[in-house]
Amino acid sequence: MTTPATTAGLRALSDAHSAHNYHPLPVVISAAEGAWVTDVEGRRYLDMLAAYSAINFGHRHPQLVAAARRQLDRVTLVSRAFDHDQFGLFCAELAELAGLDMVLPMNTGAEAVETAIKTARKWGHEVKGVPDGEAVIVAFEGNFHGRTTTIVSFSTDPDARGSYGPYTPGFRVIPYGDADALAAAMDPNVVGVLIEPIQGEAGVIVPPPGYLARVRELCSAHGALMIADEIQSGLGRTGMTFACDHDGVVPDMYVLGKALGGGIVPLSAVVSSREVLGVYKPGQHGSTFGGNPLACAVGREVIALLATGEYQERSAKLGTHMHHRLATLPVSAVREVRGRGLWAGVEFTSLSGRAACERLADRGVLAKDTHGTTIRLAPPLMISEADLDWALDQVEDVIRRP
Ligand code: PLP
Repeated sequence: MTTPATTAGLRALSDAHSAHNYHPLPVVISAAEGAWVTDVEGRRYLDMLAAYSAINFGHRHPQLVAAARRQLDRVTLVSRAFDHDQFGLFCAELAELAGLDMVLPMNTGAEAVETAIKTARKWGHEVKGVPDGEAVIVAFEGNFHGRTTTIVSFSTDPDARGSYGPYTPGFRVIPYGDADALAAAMDPNVVGVLIEPIQGEAGVIVPPPGYLARVRELCSAHGALMIADEIQSGLGRTGMTFACDHDGVVPDMYVLGKALGGGIVPLSAVVSSREVLGVYKPGQHGSTFGGNPLACAVGREVIALLATGEYQERSAKLGTHMHHRLATLPVSAVREVRGRGLWAGVEFTSLSGRAACERLADRGVLAKDTHGTTIRLAPPLMISEADLDWALDQVEDVIRRP
């Protein structure tokens, strides 16, 4: 097929031949480096979304690309039927980063969440002693954990959930940020509490101070696993390695993804204790590509970047700067700014998030709307202060001169 290498031509192809399950901005990217992407017509845009935090280290970080290239020349896939020389090292290094014992690698975020759910149920039945088939997992209104049939079963977003029944039972959905509601939801059949320490897709909702510590306490008191979905909030995004770190909380299970693959390969994982991940015996769970050599090699380099602390520090410092600037936006136009580190949800009073993102794209900035009147800002953590300021100038311009 001769490819019409223009924005209009390529968009016409995807319109005609791909399912319309996304509504992308009219930008067709053909190259990227650091915080910047270039479209097929050569126009440059500053990436203020970073693939929902999967590009935390910037596009094509030289160290990550070098690790991938080295591994491409050696071995890329063996399946879990055989071991390979990156696997044990990756698992040990990720467990150490998280301060826990064991790792179960998968590919996408949703697969890792499914793994966490299966693990909590299996642990609940075999270790806690909940009768088989009666385990309950508590989840939260506004959650976003992925798109599988089980995960959308406890979504409260009609777009994510509608038309996909029959739904998987075994979930109890309660308000987010309300410790009393969680206390009331706990009973002996609760095996896990699945929580985003900051709700990303819901519009970067930060829970009240002390809430995560209460969740931790309630889980411990009721013998339930605290399962922190840090797929979007983790790995430096909020200014610390994990968003739970801000509250001094260590969950029983971290669910990681996105940035773990360095923006190069899909790589996700559940990280937990020996007691919890020790429930698995051969044949009880798995994935052909999970923990493959290429993904593990890139993942090890991601862990090495995080071990320097540099990205967490940049996110904290530039995040403070970004939030100071966003706090000066006119209250007539901006209802609320939420977030932590280089991560913000800007909720407008009336401007549509989609319209704001279209106008930002016209000005050379890529961001993403959510829930009508909110836009999300989550630039790569290596963004320069000058680029960040320029992007924030554009946000301000869109608001003041729509
Ligand atoms: N969990 C959280 C908190 C997410 O933000 C996402 C994706 O946005 C997922 C899970 C699902 O990840 P994936 O799209 O890789 O399946």
